[in-house]
Amino acid sequence: MPGNNIDTLIIGGGIIGLLTARELALAGQSVTVLERNPRAGLESSWAGGGILSPLYPWRYPDAVTDLSAIGHLEYPGLAAELLEATGIDPEYIRSGHLILDTEEQDEAKSWAKEFSKKIRLDSKIKYLSRIGRREISVLEPELSENFQAALWLPYVGQVRNPRIMKSLIQDLIQRGVKIITDMPVEKINTSAGKVVNVETPAGKWSAGNYLVAAGAWSATLLEDTGLTLNIEPVRGQMILFKTEPGRLNRIIMNNGKYIIPRKDGHIVAGSTLEYVGFDKSTTDDAGHLLMSEAVSIVPFLAKTPVVSQWAGLRPGSADGTPTIDWHPQLDNLVICSGHFRNGVIIGLGSARIAASLLQYRSLKYAGSSSTNPYKIK
Ligand SMILES: Cc1cc2nc3c(=O)[nH]c(=O)nc-3n(C[C@H](O)[C@H](O)[C@H](O)COP(=O)(O)OP(=O)(O)OC[C@H]3O[C@@H](n4cnc5c(N)ncnc54)[C@H](O)[C@@H]3O)c2cc1C
Repeated sequence: MPGNNIDTLIIGGGIIGLLTARELALAGQSVTVLERNPRAGLESSWAGGGILSPLYPWRYPDAVTDLSAIGHLEYPGLAAELLEATGIDPEYIRSGHLILDTEEQDEAKSWAKEFSKKIRLDSKIKYLSRIGRREISVLEPELSENFQAALWLPYVGQVRNPRIMKSLIQDLIQRGVKIITDMPVEKINTSAGKVVNVETPAGKWSAGNYLVAAGAWSATLLEDTGLTLNIEPVRGQMILFKTEPGRLNRIIMNNGKYIIPRKDGHIVAGSTLEYVGFDKSTTDDAGHLLMSEAVSIVPFLAKTPVVSQWAGLRPGSADGTPTIDWHPQLDNLVICSGHFRNGVIIGLGSARIAASLLQYRSLKYAGSSSTNPYKIK
């Protein structure tokens, strides 16, 4: 049954909605999350790789780099807090990251210099360096001998998506956040420049403020409010190998594809970028492509069983910059969506901005002004 006295009603229980719920709950708000699936965290936020860095991070605008700096600094602490509070381990590991296509090393190095300042890394320590075959063999003995050089980013970490989502959900429940599942929002009702309630099959829900964090579905949900958001679904497929723990240890990237070794010997290989609408099916072609790219990086994977394949729909945006802003016509509705390939690493910073907008109404105009790099385009 629809509840009363909700400060903020969040539509969408992915990592963005849940991290924002956590920020608001920590600030003392009463928060309810409406999720249309039988469980929260089953869409893109479940399907992702959990790499705690944008891929080829120098290719992104500063607005993304700034958010990823927050994620870089705060994920170790968040993962530890979640583990302590819930007993569910998000499996944060500082695996380090090897990038094998090194053509853009000048851009990469100058980006890393600036990023190191943002994360206050000691100037003697390198966030990114170019290494040769001998160092590669020490870091990852199983890597194909075809690679003689790499960019090495020792500080890049990972979390395991299904685990961090489970842990986050449990933490929020313990903090009194209500996560209502099987509750699709079908319509946002407005009057006199405000949201008055949202409609679900179980009735109408109303709150002081509303947050749309519905991932790839955000634009569709907002259409009725007269807003055209530049966010569309972009399918990503992954395959999963299983081998013995410790055989691979680094996140490795080549030719736009990556492999991520988990603690227990699972190895994720991803991912595709497909503009096929809201179609979450997997394909044999993608499975073969991901397999051959993974084997070209680490030959032993040719003889390692693939135990699963899945797909998720990323909330795609033009250059990867999310939208975090007040709705231009509705006084009490914030949007936080469009995190594309980086919603885990940049989601923490985004959630903090969204939560600030929702807490301090006076920021409404600041949020919508030209100085907000995340404003609606
Ligand atoms: C294959 C793949 C690999 C990735 N790898 C990485 C990575 O390594 N690192 C990284 O940082 N990011 C990665 N990403 C991107 C990241 O997963 C996404 O950017 C992030 O999960 C987006 O989170 P979200 O909460 O906006 O969306 P979602 O997780 O999709 O959540 C949106 C939620 O809203 C719900 N919803 C939608 N409409 C409604 C409605 N009308 N009513 C109620 N609920 C609704 C949905 O059911 C869903 O649960 C990857 C993504 C994919 C697919």
